[in-house]
Amino acid sequence: MTNLSDDRALVLFSAGQDSTTCLAWALERFSVVETIGYDYGQRHVIELAQRPAIREALARRFPQWSTRLQMDHTLGLSALSAISETALTRQMELTFDEDRIPNTFVPGRNIIFLTLAAAVAYRRGIKHIVAGMCETDYSGYPDCRDDTIKAMQVALNLGMDRRFVLHTPLMFIDKAGTWEMAEALGGSALVEIVRTETHSCYLGVRETLHEWGHGCGTCPACELRSAGWTRYRSRQKA
Ligand code: ZN
Repeated sequence: MTNLSDDRALVLFSAGQDSTTCLAWALERFSVVETIGYDYGQRHVIELAQRPAIREALARRFPQWSTRLQMDHTLGLSALSAISETALTRQMELTFDEDRIPNTFVPGRNIIFLTLAAAVAYRRGIKHIVAGMCETDYSGYPDCRDDTIKAMQVALNLGMDRRFVLHTPLMFIDKAGTWEMAEALGGSALVEIVRTETHSCYLGVRETLHEWGHGCGTCPACELRSAGWTRYRSRQKA
């Protein structure tokens, strides 16, 4: 079996708060870090536009990370928009089903993302795959749950005859904890990059910079982000 390099990581990077924090987490731990993103007809192409901006900001502000941060991969996944009738890919209103899962959810999306990331990691000789899934805030998303990720690690290792390690550093912390992790990794400079450069809003609104970042302020992603920021700030002051 070809060995995968133990000091290399591939980060699923969408330019959101979570994946940007995961990218910093990986840069602190691995000597070579590559990123991967997916273009699947997001209604807000702003996510894809912010990816290089965030990578550049991290490299500029953190010289110790700049040599570690290496290749970026973007894969087209237009088939996803063809099979999903959701607000993420079509001009539809956000709604929630009886399990409180929003119609932005593309069924099994993270399973597809992880599978493709592992295929790229296989080619690149990368052992560690880092992703921002979290079951604390979004317990409604079954493909974000820890059991799903652990099962994926087993399936990918069997199916590709390799020994990948899947890391989800945010799995059991809430959004306030994610801000705290950013602060622990890169101090107020990293918090400021996450606050001003990352994008979480479902509606793709970026005109207004709130205390917690850019966004419409009313969609579920903005509500979650702003509530997390408020808790983080009140814990700081306590
Ligand atoms: Zn929003």
